[in-house]
Amino acid sequence: MKPSDTSSSVTDPSVLDAPVLHVDLDAFFASVEILDDPSLRGRPVAVGGAGERGVIASASYEARRFGVRSAMPSVVALRQCPQLVILPGRFDRYEEYSRRFHAIVNDLTPIYEPLGLDEVFADLTSLARLDVRPLAAAAELRQRIGDELGILSGVGLGPNKLFAKLASKRSKPTVRDGVLVPGPGVVYVDPATRERWLNELPVRALWGVGPATAERLERLGLSSVRELATVDEATLRSHFGPAMAASLSAMARGEDARAVSPHRVNKSIGHEETFATSLVGYDDVLVQIRRHAGVVARALRDSSQVAHTISVVIRFDDLHAVRRSQTLSFGVDDEGAIAGVAEALAESVPLNAAVRLAGVSASSLRAREGSQVQLAFDLSSAPETLSVEAASRAAQANRAALRDAIDDLRQRFGRSVIAQGSDLTSAEVHVERQRGSHAFGPSTEGSSDTQ
Ligand SMILES: [Mg+2]
Repeated sequence: MKPSDTSSSVTDPSVLDAPVLHVDLDAFFASVEILDDPSLRGRPVAVGGAGERGVIASASYEARRFGVRSAMPSVVALRQCPQLVILPGRFDRYEEYSRRFHAIVNDLTPIYEPLGLDEVFADLTSLARLDVRPLAAAAELRQRIGDELGILSGVGLGPNKLFAKLASKRSKPTVRDGVLVPGPGVVYVDPATRERWLNELPVRALWGVGPATAERLERLGLSSVRELATVDEATLRSHFGPAMAASLSAMARGEDARAVSPHRVNKSIGHEETFATSLVGYDDVLVQIRRHAGVVARALRDSSQVAHTISVVIRFDDLHAVRRSQTLSFGVDDEGAIAGVAEALAESVPLNAAVRLAGVSASSLRAREGSQVQLAFDLSSAPETLSVEAASRAAQANRAALRDAIDDLRQRFGRSVIAQGSDLTSAEVHVERQRGSHAFGPSTEGSSDTQ
């Protein structure tokens, strides 16, 4: 495996031109599965739920040639690619690879920030004194990841997180008319290219703009970044709340003040409980999820932190567990916000057996800063300087931003059809038990066989 290391630009930027690097592993879960089972190489492979309500979480490029992509319902994926191999997720294994990936990035700079398991932002500013050239460093990083992990990746270099992430996306292979076209591997976005992208990109390309937020922007006649840039922040505030409005406005100008926050320990705050009597059905499970969300919210506020990622874990009587996460573009420390996201995650998990354990955790933690734009989800946490009326408006707008995030989440996973335990056939439960951990919806017999 020999990654190519061309770039979008003939210039050789300095660290000051390209202080932020974003690296994203290609088809991560699927790539790990292929590494562990070389007989899968060259075949269309996906990780996800193979059952009727399953969703694709990761697809190999071979599968993408057939139009299979993540977040696609598995039934659609199988229709487009009947020979698709769908495997259940093995998070322990992915975490192992992720740790090795982080260790390689750490050799470049300790100032890096993981985003999920397969993406990292790194701040190269401190390397200026060493006369590190960003393009060379990025190519070398990509080479090492390829050599040591056996996984290809794409690297973006830019002035901030926004452009670095957009650039890494451009560095990836693409599929055109069913043919896989290799990407450049490393992309540096120079100032002229930045202008061009801002003129060309749809709003949904922006950070934190999921399908629901994009739809709301489009209803306001704002489907491109260029159009978004013509609207002042005050107008956006009345529709999206102060935090989202500030972020949208800045991004439309190509600005992004978010710093790369170095990863120290794998920090998370979580709360879970194993029940004396297993729970059946969503009603009881959601009560527990809300309770755990409250505990997590209090722990966050006590430690003056906000969380950008909320996860739920549900473990069934047969000991298989489902874990789902959602990363938000804004930090939350409020019980209502955390419960809202956690409940939507829990509702997306098919309850095909009695539930033995439920838990909620918060990760991607950041210190709550005074200058940080805080989302106020209830009046008590609104800044004191606001009038009651303004605070009420702000809280309402922020709830709208949260609702959009939850809508995006539901679109991503597909909403689980609520099935009571009593509706299940013993065959379905049996299949679940055989297959072990399913993070992306239940499998049905035969559809994910790889033997
Ligand atoms: Mg990736």
